[in-house]
Amino acid sequence: MLIKTVLNKFERFKSFIYGDCRLAKVGGSEALVIDIKARRNSKPECPECGKRGKTYDTQPARLFEYVPIWAFKVFFRYAPRRVLCPIHGVKVESLPWGYGKEQMTISYQVYLARWARRLSWKEVAEIFKTSWDSIFRAVQYAVDYGLANRNLDGVTEIGVDEIAVFKGHQYLTMVYQLNAGVRRLLWCGPQRRIRTLLRFFREFGKERSAKLKYVCSDMWAPYLKVIAKRAPNAVNILDRFHIMRKFNEAIDEVRRTEAKEFKAAKQENVLEKGRWLLLKRPENLSEKQTSRLGDLLKLNLSSIKAYLLREDFQQFWDYQRSDFAGKFLDDWVIRTMQTDLEPMKKVARMLRNHKPMILNWFKAKGRLSSGAVEGLNLKAKLTIRKAYGFRTIKCLQVALYHTLGDLPEPLCHHRFC
Ligand SMILES: [Zn+2]
Repeated sequence: MLIKTVLNKFERFKSFIYGDCRLAKVGGSEALVIDIKARRNSKPECPECGKRGKTYDTQPARLFEYVPIWAFKVFFRYAPRRVLCPIHGVKVESLPWGYGKEQMTISYQVYLARWARRLSWKEVAEIFKTSWDSIFRAVQYAVDYGLANRNLDGVTEIGVDEIAVFKGHQYLTMVYQLNAGVRRLLWCGPQRRIRTLLRFFREFGKERSAKLKYVCSDMWAPYLKVIAKRAPNAVNILDRFHIMRKFNEAIDEVRRTEAKEFKAAKQENVLEKGRWLLLKRPENLSEKQTSRLGDLLKLNLSSIKAYLLREDFQQFWDYQRSDFAGKFLDDWVIRTMQTDLEPMKKVARMLRNHKPMILNWFKAKGRLSSGAVEGLNLKAKLTIRKAYGFRTIKCLQVALYHTLGDLPEPLCHHRFC
C-alpha cells in the first residue's frame, strides 16, 4: 500500500492506475512486481499519431523494469492493448513509462544513464546486476533525447579537432562549442575528411554557421577548406595548443630516428626514456628530470637541437602585437630552415604557409582560451580510456556525447540518484 502511495507521488500516469503489488520470482530471483491497469473507460493511444482509438485486443502481460528499491529489482506488469487507429490500423498502444520493445522503463534508463556519467559502464552494469548492453541502451536513449532537445542558439565560437581512437587506427572529428560558460561537445563523427566536417555543417545549419565568429582548428587541410567555405563570417584561428602539438610530433620524430641510429651503431642510447624530458615544458619537470635534461643538453644531438628550437619558439606567444609576432615567426622559420632537421623544417614550412591564420590568434586574444580545446580533448580521451568494451565508433560517439555534450535530460522524477 505504502509503495503505491510513494509511486503515485513520483510517477503518476494519467489514464493508468497501480494495482496489486507483491514479491515474485523474476529471472530466478525475488523481485517486486507492481501491476498497472488502464483506467476504466480509457482508450488506448496510437503510437504514430497520438490519437486515442478503440481497443482492438489485449496482448499478454509484459514486465517493465523500474528503478530498484533496496536490494529488489522492481517491475511494472502490464498487458498492453492494441489500438484500432483509423489512419494507422492496428498498433500496440503507446505507454508513458516505456517505448517499443525495450524492457526497461524510461525512468530506469535515465537513472542508469546518470550513473554511467559518473562510473564506467561496466561498473554500473555490475552494481545494478544488469548487462553492459542495457547500460548502452540506457545511455543511448538519454543521448538521443538530449540531442533532439538541446538548444543550439548563441553558438558563436567553436573548435574543431581530431582524436585518434582504437589505437590510432581510426579518427574521430570533434566539434566543440567554446563560448565562455558553455563549453561542450557539439558534434562528433568518424574520420577526418572533408566530407566529415561537411556533415557537421549540414546538420548545424546554414543560418547558425553564418553566425559563427571564431573557429579554432588544427592545420589539417581538409578542415581549413571546409571552414573557409561553410563559416564565411568566422575568423579561423590556429591556436597555441594545436601548433605546439605539431612541434612535439616533430621532436618525437627526430628523437625516434636518432634512437634508431644509436641502436644501429651499437652505441649507448642516451635518449632512452628521454621522450618526456623533451616533450614537457621545462617548468613542468621534476628536479631529477631537470638535471637529466641538463646532461642531455650538453650533447650535440639532433633531438636537443629540435628541443631548443621549440623552446625558442615559445616566446612567440608572448607578443602583444601581431606584426612583431609575425616578424619573429619569419626569423624563426629562416633559422630552422638552415638546420638539417627535416621534421622541424616541415613545421617551419607549415608555419610559413599558415602565417595569417596563426596571427589570427592575436586578433582573438583574450576571447578564446587556448586551453579550452585542450581541456575538452583531455576529457574526451579519459572517456575513451575509461570505456572498456566500446568496440564500435557508434558506442564511442554515444559515450562522448553523454559525458561532454552537456545534454538536457528527459523529464524524470528520480532526482535522488
Ligand atoms: Zn494513428
